[in-house]
Amino acid sequence: MHKKTYSFSSSRTTCYFEASFSQFNKVAEKDRCVFITDQHVFDQHKKYFRGSRVVVIRPGESFKVQQTIDQVIDQLIEYGADRKTTIVGVGGGVVTDISGFAASVYMRGIPFGFAPTSILGMVDASIGGKNGIDVGHYKNLVGTIRQPAFLFYDTSFLQTLPHEEWINGFAEVIKHAAIKDAALFRELEKNSIHYYKKNKKALAALIRKNVMIKSAVVMKYEFEVGDRKLLNFGHTLGHAVENIYELPHGHAVAIGIKGACLISEELLNFKETARVTDLLEKYGLPTDLHTDPGKILEIMRMDKKKTRDIMNYVLLEKLGKAVVKPIPMKHLEKLIYSISRAR
Ligand code: NAD
Repeated sequence: MHKKTYSFSSSRTTCYFEASFSQFNKVAEKDRCVFITDQHVFDQHKKYFRGSRVVVIRPGESFKVQQTIDQVIDQLIEYGADRKTTIVGVGGGVVTDISGFAASVYMRGIPFGFAPTSILGMVDASIGGKNGIDVGHYKNLVGTIRQPAFLFYDTSFLQTLPHEEWINGFAEVIKHAAIKDAALFRELEKNSIHYYKKNKKALAALIRKNVMIKSAVVMKYEFEVGDRKLLNFGHTLGHAVENIYELPHGHAVAIGIKGACLISEELLNFKETARVTDLLEKYGLPTDLHTDPGKILEIMRMDKKKTRDIMNYVLLEKLGKAVVKPIPMKHLEKLIYSISRAR
């Protein structure tokens, strides 16, 4: 088990890499913890929770809502959780978002940490302190920013992760490489999901690299100014297609990445769209941009990254170097119409 601590504005997060859940007691006393997990993770990893206080929520995005928080809080009361209790979210991004939010509001905030169990949870959702819930159609509308005390990385959880969820998670891995790390991009080009499933060391190193990329960005810009926006690469168009076509998040981000590359070609003379497209496809992700531009623009007009009539779009100057480019909405409309004919 390797340890690395990241410092944020008012707290620190210690990451335990290449850890095994059987060593969890070295990080926090199990008796003082309440574990929150979902039904899928609980069913597949029951032995880890034996004898502990556990809250099992229903799996999936549709349960990332206030009603689940209310149920979690009822169970925390039943378990007699207090300010000395640590909440531990063991699951994908839904579980960690719910756990972080419940821990932030219960008794006005009690300590918490995460053991992420999905690729997306490990490389993205557990890092950065954002947590919260969806309200109606609005994703992540309510929440707080509060850093976990620890992140516990046991990659053996991934053995039971459905293949489709591996693919979803790799959209964010490719995103990190594209915006910050050209060497990582080349490494991904050489390998495949199959390779990372078979090579524990390579997988652990990949996860660690991605944690470092996201943590470094968040440490600098915890409250969404400057560089933190770069993490939205692929997400402007991605959110719009996710919304319209009800695609899995990773698929939507992949389409968003392709769109951002085409806009980068147009505005920044970016030349590597074909490489990015090939890589996304190699990892099982879609890149077909044949969409309805009118509907996309309708959703983009409500995007948080838009200020007045300008959209702050994350684009690539080259692989590993992203920039935020303000694009007037009138200009963006033309771009979206022209790229939505690209396949
Ligand atoms: P998820 O938590 O819904 O997990 C996907 C599916 O995989 C679920 O069915 C889950 O039960 C299952 N699963 C997870 N780990 C498993 C395992 N080891 N074995 C078997 N099944 C397992 O989704 P996700 O893709 O992990 O995360 C998506 C969520 O993360 C979204 O709600 C998104 O908003 C959030 N997110 C948050 C941040 C943030 O900064 N807080 C960043 C990115 C995404």
